[in-house]
Amino acid sequence: MQIGQYKIEPGETKEIDLYIGELPTGSTVTVKAHIYRSKNPGPTGLILAGMHGDEINSIEIVRQSIFNGFFTNLISGTVIAIPVLNIYGFMNFSRYVPDGKDVNRSFPGFSTGSLASRVAKVMSKKILPIVDFGLDFHTGGDSRFNYPQVRYSPKSVKALELAQSFNAPLMIEKSTISKTLRAEAKSRDIPILVYEGGEALRLNGFAIEVGLQGIQNVLFDKKMIDKKSASPDREKLSFKKTTWVRAHQSGIFIWNKSSGNSVKKGEAIGVIYNPNGTESTSVKASRNGYLIGHNNTPVVNVGDALFNVGYQ
Ligand SMILES: [Zn+2]
Repeated sequence: MQIGQYKIEPGETKEIDLYIGELPTGSTVTVKAHIYRSKNPGPTGLILAGMHGDEINSIEIVRQSIFNGFFTNLISGTVIAIPVLNIYGFMNFSRYVPDGKDVNRSFPGFSTGSLASRVAKVMSKKILPIVDFGLDFHTGGDSRFNYPQVRYSPKSVKALELAQSFNAPLMIEKSTISKTLRAEAKSRDIPILVYEGGEALRLNGFAIEVGLQGIQNVLFDKKMIDKKSASPDREKLSFKKTTWVRAHQSGIFIWNKSSGNSVKKGEAIGVIYNPNGTESTSVKASRNGYLIGHNNTPVVNVGDALFNVGYQ
């Protein structure tokens, strides 16, 4: 297996640096990838996190999977684990790279493009061509909390199988957004599952635990590892449609129902208070469904997304 200037033989484990660009200081920025190859042939899986630099749960999941040696005794195939793709965002507590662009809206990317475009290009050129499947770890953006869930592409048997194998509490069938890694991979018939759990800049034990279990479940089903920790027996739900309940007025927002609960149409699930203390508005569920995400922000503007509802 060849990745850039690195050659990785069967049975070999290697930590490699993928060149991305330079900081204004002149320092070189590289992305670390950990390559684990079994002596036995098998699929190559990408375990990716930190595409959005502030999504720390994702980074922590992949860090723990490396630290706990999930991939050190593969019985077949190869794992490419990248814990922090967006080094710039990670340093700056930001989703974006310093030029304000989103790596996950920059695929397939250009080697002469913006920083985001260059990061995407490295993935498209050096990693995707050798990958058979991928797990791309994310968390809710800003203060939005996502109940642990996998998102997979419709009309893809491979993606559906991957989602079932991962065994997260929620399975969401969601079309790809253009210029994302998942869309680029789909155009090459490579299934990539997006995992969402918790919120940006805040570690969440449940989201991390589900992510770690999911990695093991997928690798076990692909016969790449021969043991995994026991899956807790919990309710699993799947949704093909989602909608946001938005703020009808600005003010101080307090939810009284959070992600991981069912809601009924018209049910009061939060309140927005005018900070002058004179008025309040009830936030009501727009339909029967299940809260797959909610906003933890204390102050909202009219139109802000407050609750993400999954429904059939
Ligand atoms: Zn993300």
